[in-house]
Order: sequence, then C-alpha cells, then structure tokens
Amino acid sequence: MNTIDKFNEHVMHTYGRYPLVMEKGEGVCCTDEAGKSYIDFGSGIGTNSLGYCDEKWADAVCAQVRSVQHTSNYYYTKIQADFAEKLCEITGYDKVFFGNSGAEANECAIKIARKYSFDKYGKGRNKIITLVNSFHGRTLTTLSATGQEVFHNYFFPFTEGFVYAEANNTDDLKNKLDDTVCAVMMEYIQGEGGVNALDKDFVDAVYQLCEEKDVLVITDEVQTGVGRTGKFLAGDNFGKKADIVTLAKGLAGGLPIGACLTNKKCSGVLTAGTHGSTFGGNPVSCAGGLAVLQRVMSTGFLDEVTEKADYIRTELEKCPEVESVSGIGLMIGIKLKTKKAADVVKEALDKGLLLLTAKDKVRLLPPLTIEKAELEKGMKILINILEG
Ligand SMILES: *Cc1c(COP(=O)(O)O)cnc(C)c1O
Repeated sequence: MNTIDKFNEHVMHTYGRYPLVMEKGEGVCCTDEAGKSYIDFGSGIGTNSLGYCDEKWADAVCAQVRSVQHTSNYYYTKIQADFAEKLCEITGYDKVFFGNSGAEANECAIKIARKYSFDKYGKGRNKIITLVNSFHGRTLTTLSATGQEVFHNYFFPFTEGFVYAEANNTDDLKNKLDDTVCAVMMEYIQGEGGVNALDKDFVDAVYQLCEEKDVLVITDEVQTGVGRTGKFLAGDNFGKKADIVTLAKGLAGGLPIGACLTNKKCSGVLTAGTHGSTFGGNPVSCAGGLAVLQRVMSTGFLDEVTEKADYIRTELEKCPEVESVSGIGLMIGIKLKTKKAADVVKEALDKGLLLLTAKDKVRLLPPLTIEKAELEKGMKILINILEG
C-alpha cells in the first residue's frame, strides 16, 4: 500500500492534506518520496524557524538526545535552566512555564489570569476578553477563547467566561471591560484570522484601559514571536510589554514546545500543584530552543529578517494581481484581486513552491534563515503564478 493510502487508512481525517509525502529537507527546501524538490515558504506553519535540519540546531538536539532525552519535572535539568535563563534575558520577562504547544501555553496564561484575579479579588472576576477573528488553539478552553463562531460547534459545553470584542474598536472593548473581567488576550497580528495586524491606537488603548483596572494583558505570540516580525517579540513593534506572553510555533525550530512567560506581577501566581505537564520543558525541545535563541539573537539576524521581508513586500506590491500585502516582517498576508488563494497554493505545489493560506489570503511564513537566492527563486515562481 502506498504511503497516502496507508496514512488515510489509519490516521484520523482531521486535516485537508495536499498529496505530498515529505521525505527529507535541507535549508528552505524539502523533497518528496518521488524526489521532487520544493521551496518551503510555510516552514511547517512557522515552526521550522531555522529551516530544515539546520546543522548547529541538529547537533544540539542530537547531543541532548544522547545524554538525557527526558526526565520528569520532579528533577532539574541544566538545559531547561539554560534555555529559561536565555529566554527571560532576551524578552525581559521574569519567569516561564514550559508546555508542549501553543494551545497549552495559552491554557497556562488563562489559568494564571484567573488565579491572579481570584487570589487578589476573590470569585466573580474571571472573564477574559478576546478578539473577534482570533485564534488561540484547539483544546476546549482555547477554542472557547477563539473569537470565531465556526469553532464553537459540536463539542458543547464549551468553557465559560470568554467575551469577544471587535479588533480595533476601542468603544466595543470599553463597553465589555466591566468588573467581571480579569484579562484581555490578543494576537498583535491575527495569523489564522487572515494576517491582520492590530492598529497601534487600539493596542495603546487596550494597555491603558487594562492598566486602569488591574486587568491583565495576555499576548498570544505563538505565531508572531521568536523573530518572525523582525523583533524578537511582535510587541516590540508596538513598544508594549504584556503581563503574560505565550510562545510556541518557531520557538524550538520544529520540536514541540510551548512557553508562557510572565512579568513579576504574575510569576508567583501558579504554585506547586496548581499546574504541570509531563513533557513540558523536555530537554530535547529545550536544546532545540536554545539553539534557536542563539541564532535569532546573533548579530544582525533580526535586521536581515526585516530586509528579506522588505524585499518580498516590494516585489509583491509591484504585481498587478496583488490587492494588498498585510502583516509585519516575515509574517505576510497577500490579498489577491481575481485569483483564489487556494488555487494559487495548488498551482505553486505543482511548480515546487509550498505556500499557506489564511482565510482568503495567501500566507507566507518562510524560515527566518532563508537566503536571498532561494528567496528570489521562490518569489519568481509565486509572481509567475500571480501574473499567469
Ligand atoms: C498555532 C496557534 C496556536 C495553537 O498552537 P498549537 O501548537 O497548534 O496548539 C495558538 N495561537 C496562535 C496565535 C497560533 O497561531
């Protein structure tokens, strides 16, 4: 039986998959079972931040696998300490909790916000405002947090206590920010929602209103974080620092990880026995994560991310089929005039280029390490399709 048939026979059909069986990868390129090569502008939805099988990253990961691959969180590991230290140093946050995914990082953030408020103000102040069109994960609670009706089906009852405010509508937020609210949770750039960046004025208003009421700000940087926007955190583009920030996707270069970072105000909220994860802070993921941090913070790296992003954006804006280009840095949404995003992705696959969609847009999340020559090659394929 071929791979796709075998797969479909035994793996649940929860994804709309493309007929590509990925066999190996190197840098920005991957190869399928038949030996056809693809330039990957999606990097596993922004997870392979250093591309496929980066050498230093792979060395760090392999060395860790060969020393300690896992230990329970009843014990300490040096690699988790080193990774946490570096992550706090880079971001300026006080402490971190490690889980295994974006949804888990957000669950942790939600628990912290509710307990912070419970400890300080008692019961009844537990609502969390999230934004319409947001995406926060697939667990029942993070689905509830997700401000899109299509996700609120079948699995009733959902977790209570989420209120949805319109993005970039300060009045709507103000009206919903009553005394039952403990936190506002948002993505600076809504990724799955269509690569839409929030307005700076709205972000300013969120922080100001929350500060006045001791309501926590949680920023979901699962997709925007770890250098994707040309800054380590997307919040740096807005000059803002949330009380709690969550990271995942690109953090460990393609290994499962989630991180929930807190400032001093929130770092003592979760005490022994109130939260945990068997695999959280797994040494191999931490080793991969540390290798990512070292690379992303190396001299000039983030400036290069911005330069590459500027190049892509300039090329796209010259293309008559492109209506508009959204997002920040290497998180790019492309609105088209006549073509359907899904058709463009299919045609690109044929031509050896992997793309993503986000709602009605084509979405690009290339590896941060992509080199100029590969970038030019990929853009040529994309522009040709758009002009065809
Ligand atoms: C992908 C994503 C998540 C969910 O992450 P998982 O690792 O799939 O659980 C949450 N929030 C945002 C903004 C995301 O892009």
